[in-house]
Amino acid sequence: MDILLWLLLPIAAFSGWLTAKKNQKSRSMSTIEPPQRPLPADYFKGINYLLNEQSDKALDTFIRLLDDEQDSVETHLALGAFFRRRGEVNRAIQIHQHLTLNQQLSTEQRHLALLALGQDYQHAGLLDRAEALFSELIKAQAHQVFACQQLRAIYEQEHDWDKAIATTQRLMQSQKQDNAAELNAIIAHYYCELAEQACYQKDDATSSTMLQKALANDATCVRASLIEGNLALRQGEALQAIKAFRRVEHQNARYVSETLQPLQQAYQQVEKTAEFADYLRWVLSHYGGITPLLLLSEHIQHSEGKDVAIEEMVQHLQQQPSLKGLHHFVELCLSKQAADEENKLHLCKTVTEQLLINKRAYLCHECGFSSQTLYWLCPSCKQWNTIEPIQGMDGMV
Ligand SMILES: [Zn+2]
Repeated sequence: MDILLWLLLPIAAFSGWLTAKKNQKSRSMSTIEPPQRPLPADYFKGINYLLNEQSDKALDTFIRLLDDEQDSVETHLALGAFFRRRGEVNRAIQIHQHLTLNQQLSTEQRHLALLALGQDYQHAGLLDRAEALFSELIKAQAHQVFACQQLRAIYEQEHDWDKAIATTQRLMQSQKQDNAAELNAIIAHYYCELAEQACYQKDDATSSTMLQKALANDATCVRASLIEGNLALRQGEALQAIKAFRRVEHQNARYVSETLQPLQQAYQQVEKTAEFADYLRWVLSHYGGITPLLLLSEHIQHSEGKDVAIEEMVQHLQQQPSLKGLHHFVELCLSKQAADEENKLHLCKTVTEQLLINKRAYLCHECGFSSQTLYWLCPSCKQWNTIEPIQGMDGMV
């Protein structure tokens, strides 16, 4: 990649020079044709410094050139971007800052320089400065879509969810709703973040309002239903919790496994465990999975005893072999304390335990990132709503 950049640099310099010449030509069409000038020798000097890894000297040469050659803006934009891509952000900032101070720039060129400088600041982690530049561009109605996208990324990084919402809404307006559903789903996550913050501060009323807004933006927002269910559960409103958790099945059935444990708690609170067992059987027959199986087994243990539970597990394991299922089966048998088999079973349990450690339960369908925790924003590819429970794995692990 680096070699390719090296090769492209003289071309960038030359094309910048050509563009400058063309601009100069079109500006002076009505007057006298300017004499043809050769590519300034200092360009080659500067590029030579770059090739010899003497970035400081190269930078000085190019900045001097910028002062002498007012029409080489495009070349300097290319050079600045080149420094940034090489990770030399401070040098990119120097070039672009120098450009923005140039009084000769056209409005369009100045906006391009501001855009580039904003990206430099963003790379350098100077988020306040980047935010100011991108906001200035939006105010000037220049490069609105790109500036909004960058601002959104900054606000996400700063966890400033209110501003992230406002920026995404502005982005939707400027993109004329090309990807409105996708952006609405992201806004719903921002409201979920606000709802979680409010939950954490025990401000349940704000949390509920934020969840309503999340669902108004994206009716399929699973996360909002999960937060709502857990909030209701905490408030002792089991029926409301059940309603919220059962909504997930219609929003995205892949996440049903996430609702089952809190649902068990809610059904226990209203003393409707038999109804919950029926629901588990229904989930098992429709979606399979290990979570409903283990919870059903727990229910059978309490209501009909260990022998029946073991018998059920044998049947399920034959139909749907799984490591977690086997582990649970061994635990069930061990708890019956059949003395002669106990040692063998202990060995089995140690093996299944070891095999289950570090098993990934969630997978990002965009970048392949896997984890044991459900993240709504993928830590690897930074996209929302791309991580899902591993369906097959849930059953086959
Ligand atoms: Zn990802």
